[in-house]
Amino acid sequence: MRIDDVRRIDLGSFVRPAEETGTGRPRVEAVLGYVVRTSAGLLLLDTGLGDAGPETEAHYRPRRVPIAEALAGVGVAPEEVAVVVNCHLHFDHIGANPSFAGRPIVAQRRELDAARGPDYTVPELLDFPGARYELLDGEAQIATGVHVIPTPGHVDGHQSVVVECTDGTVVLAGQAHDTASAWSADVLAARAGARGHEPPLPQPSPWMERILALDPRRVVFAHDAAVWMP
Ligand SMILES: [Zn+2]
Repeated sequence: MRIDDVRRIDLGSFVRPAEETGTGRPRVEAVLGYVVRTSAGLLLLDTGLGDAGPETEAHYRPRRVPIAEALAGVGVAPEEVAVVVNCHLHFDHIGANPSFAGRPIVAQRRELDAARGPDYTVPELLDFPGARYELLDGEAQIATGVHVIPTPGHVDGHQSVVVECTDGTVVLAGQAHDTASAWSADVLAARAGARGHEPPLPQPSPWMERILALDPRRVVFAHDAAVWMP
């Protein structure tokens, strides 16, 4: 597996209204998934935007790419997916999870617990017939050279997938940060002391050192098509 073999799929987009962007203008945001061939079979990270009801539909005006169409874009059929990983369980990451009934869905246990609480996500997308969770309590290796690493922040149970390729390591960061530039700022915060900056300094994410220790060559995101590179 080479870095270029980690494939991105376009799962749709939504429009964040002006009052939420801080810019006074609405912003169209991407919803991206990733496909990786692993020793445990084909891994799919995130499955797209669910339907969270008329209020959310009107608020975010989502456009969805059906999962079969999104996967076809990289030459994959839904039946080939062996394992689904969700970076977290908000409605915009688990939309097509029910079409993978019977196949393992990898999530952090604390994330599923939170998601079953009120006002977190779409319950029908969580506990559908045939839902089969493989719950993690922290870091785990789920296939040869494929690691799931907790990256809390956006939500407490957020996780990222680290894929060791023959030509370097790729981090599927999900929504660990919303954008590549936010990730970049966090990397600089983690390295500020080593670069000779004096306090006061920004506090990096507690997990950033762990991720950087894996020497990522490429970091990709759920809501940003931009890519971080060292
Ligand atoms: Zn999201």
